[in-house]
Amino acid sequence: MTFDTLGLAEPLLRAVHEAGYTTPTPIQAQAIPAVLSGGDVMGGAQTGTGKTAGFVLPLLQRLMDKPGVRDQRGKLPIRALILTPTRELAAQVEESVRTYGKHAKLSSMVMFGGVGMQPQIDKLRRGVDILVATPGRLLDHHGQRTLDLSHVEIFVLDEADRMLDMGFIHDIKKVLAVLPQKKQSLLFSATFSDEVKAIADRLLNAPVLIEVARRNQTAELIAQKVHPVGREMKKDLLVHLVKDNDWHQVLVFTRMKHGANRLVEHLLKHDITAMAIHGNKSQTARTKALADFKKGDLQVLVATDIAARGIDIDQLPHVVNFELPNVPEDYVHRIGRTGRAGTKGEAISLVCVDENGFLRDIERLTKIEIPKEIVPGFAPPAHEKPEPIVLGRMVIGEGAARGGMRRSSGGGGHRGDSRGGSGGGGGNNGNGGGGSHRQAPPRPQGPSRDGRSGGGGGGRPPSRLGSPKR
Ligand code: AMP
Repeated sequence: MTFDTLGLAEPLLRAVHEAGYTTPTPIQAQAIPAVLSGGDVMGGAQTGTGKTAGFVLPLLQRLMDKPGVRDQRGKLPIRALILTPTRELAAQVEESVRTYGKHAKLSSMVMFGGVGMQPQIDKLRRGVDILVATPGRLLDHHGQRTLDLSHVEIFVLDEADRMLDMGFIHDIKKVLAVLPQKKQSLLFSATFSDEVKAIADRLLNAPVLIEVARRNQTAELIAQKVHPVGREMKKDLLVHLVKDNDWHQVLVFTRMKHGANRLVEHLLKHDITAMAIHGNKSQTARTKALADFKKGDLQVLVATDIAARGIDIDQLPHVVNFELPNVPEDYVHRIGRTGRAGTKGEAISLVCVDENGFLRDIERLTKIEIPKEIVPGFAPPAHEKPEPIVLGRMVIGEGAARGGMRRSSGGGGHRGDSRGGSGGGGGNNGNGGGGSHRQAPPRPQGPSRDGRSGGGGGGRPPSRLGSPKR
C-alpha cells in the first residue's frame, strides 16, 4: 500500500514524501480514511506506531477542505485542538503538524506551561488554526479569556491513558465542557482502562475502533536482552557497555530522578557525554538535552518514565533499562523508543537481584522470556540477597519482605495504577515475598505535568486522587 491511495491531497502527499515515508504504517492505513470520513475514532496505539501522522494528516486535510471563517476582527478561530499529556509530546506533535502541513496554508501553535503566557497570548491574537496543548496551560488561557475554543471542529485526545495516569481527569473534563458539542473527536490510548473507556464514552459518538499491534507484539524488531548484574556494579557495567560497543545514542531509563542525576555524574566522570531529562529540570534544560541528543551531540540521555514519554527520535538504536520499571507496562513503553516504524533496535536491561520480581512481571506481560547474558566481570555476587527498593515513600520489590514491606509514613489512600490492574487493592503491609510489589505501582517522579511547577516535590509520586495543583 502507498500513501496515494488513502485519499490525501497533493500538498500532504508531497510533505509525506519529503519526510521520506513510502508506506503507511498499519495505524495510518486505518486511521487516515476513518478520520477523513468525518467520524469519531478511538485508536489503540502507542508512540512509535506512526499514530501522530495517522491523525495529523487527515486533520490537516479536513481543515484544508473547508477554509476557516474569519471573525469581525479578521481573526481566524482555532479549528483543531490536540491535547497531549506532556510538554515534550506537545512539542513533537506540533512539529509533526508543521512537517506534514508545510505545503498547506494552515497555522499551528504549541502551548504548555513552564514558559511565559504573554508570547502565547500574542500568538493566539494573530490567529491559529491548529493548537497543540497540554491541559493545564490551556485551561489557564481559557480562564483568562485569552483563548476561544468555541469554533473547534476537530478535537484529538492523545495518549489518554497517560493523561489519566498523570491526574488530568478533572482538566480533561473541564476542557470537554468548553468545547462545542458538534465536533469530530479522536481519542488515542495505548491501553484501555475503565477510566479511559469512561472518557471515550463521554467524548466519542459511534467511533470507528482502530487497534494496531502493541509494541510487545512487534518485538521481533527489538532485540531484547537482560544482563544480570551485581547491584553496585550497574553504573560501571553501563560505562563498559557504552565504551565497549561504541554506542553514540543511548536512551537510559532510571526509576527516580535523583538516580538519573547520579548516573549522569558517573557517566561524565568516565568521559561519556550525558544529560538527564526529568520533571525537576526546567523546560529549557529539557529541550536542550533532547535537541543535543537528537543531533547526536550527547551520547547518553538519562530519563525517567514520564519525562521520556513521547520522546520521538528516529531510529534510536539502543535503549537501556538501568533499572527495571516497577510497572510492567512501562517496560513496553520504554523499549518502544527503539525499533521504531520498521527499524531495528536493541533494548538492554541491567537487572540486579532486587528486581527479579519486576522482571517476572514484565515477562508475564510481554509473554516473552528475555534472553539473559552475564557480561564477563559483572556477574552478580553469588550471595547477594535482595534488598527492598525505595520509591518515594514506598518500599517495594523482591527484598521488601525481608526489609519489611512497608510504607515509610502514613496518610492517604494507596494510589493504584489503572494500567497495572491492581486498582489500589490491599494495603502495603504486604504478604511477603515476590509479587507483593504489584500492589504498589506509584509513578515514581513528578511528571512534567503541564509545566505548572515541574516535579511533585521531594520525589513523592503525585496524587492522582486530587486535582492537579495549580
Ligand atoms: P509516532 O508513533 O507518531 O510517534 O511516530 C513514530 C516515528 O515513526 C516517528 O519518528 C515518525 O517520523 C515515523 N513515521 C511515521 N510514519 C511513518 C511511515 N509511514 N514510515 C516511516 N516512518 C514513519
